[in-house]
Amino acid sequence: MNHVALPSGTPVPSLGLGTWRMGESAAARRGEVAAIRLAIDLGYRLFDTAEMYGEGGAEEALGQAIAEALRAGAVRRDELFIVSKVYPHNASRTGTMAACERSLQRLGLDQVDLYLLHWPGSHPLRDTVEAFERLQAQSRIRAWGVSNFDANGMAGLWRLEGGAACATNQVYYALSERGIEFDLLPRQRERNVPLMAYSPLAQGELAAHPGLRPLADALGVTPTQLALAWVLHQPGVIAIPKAVREAHLRENLAAAGLKLGAADLAALDKLFPPPRRKTSLAMV
Ligand code: NAP
Repeated sequence: MNHVALPSGTPVPSLGLGTWRMGESAAARRGEVAAIRLAIDLGYRLFDTAEMYGEGGAEEALGQAIAEALRAGAVRRDELFIVSKVYPHNASRTGTMAACERSLQRLGLDQVDLYLLHWPGSHPLRDTVEAFERLQAQSRIRAWGVSNFDANGMAGLWRLEGGAACATNQVYYALSERGIEFDLLPRQRERNVPLMAYSPLAQGELAAHPGLRPLADALGVTPTQLALAWVLHQPGVIAIPKAVREAHLRENLAAAGLKLGAADLAALDKLFPPPRRKTSLAMV
């Protein structure tokens, strides 16, 4: 598994597991915990969640799977990298602190490795950053960052006192959503701020993309694996596809080992051309 370095130098696996749509129903809980538990056994170490997912249910499922894995000796806590997010409406100075405590409680952890503002909201950003700094000083989070910030949003954040410490920006990035390559991605690269790609499979839609099939067949992989390998090929990018099915968990991990050559990349550029002008940031 490749790693991407945060600005602090902390290495983060370039492939993780997303948890959106988990924790939404009691009936699905056992299967979700088992999927995350299997992911840990297979070698996944980075997990992305949020207080929003299942209104805390995804954090609970992730926490349960982590607790079981730690008890079984399958992994050490310091080998895992756990990401969670605060709702923008909770992101005041005191609200962020309280939301983080609730997330830690649900996760059953003393510390979150990376804590993100889920999307820009109405609380002053400086207040959120101040709360992040306090949480860091109290060792409740190791690093902080943002999500769904466009190039202007990042420029504003970097101008703020303390803003330069932002460890990542998590945004929609997939073969079919390349708009950020025009401005956001290069600017983050200039500053060595990794980009975390959410919905890297376009929420599963790329699996059925007719143009990907022949290219994938030629490489002996699935269209989804090809789409994921392309995201992982991008320097400074971390991808967090969500999967609960065992076959998907295994396929995605295998995609991390797939090397794409210049001809493959050119064929993908033809199918999904890179942006030629600024576009507004895509969100799901
Ligand atoms: P995604 O990862 O692009 O796609 C997930 C879908 O693809 C699921 O239906 C999954 O099925 C399916 N899938 C997974 N692996 C597959 C494979 N190998 N072959 C075929 N289908 C496969 O979409 P996402 O869940 O929207 O994004 C990933 C994560 O990013 C989220 O879970 C969340 O953690 C994060 N996210 C963050 C934001 C934000 O605002 N910050 C927004 C969206 C997402 P199964 O589950 O049935 O296996």
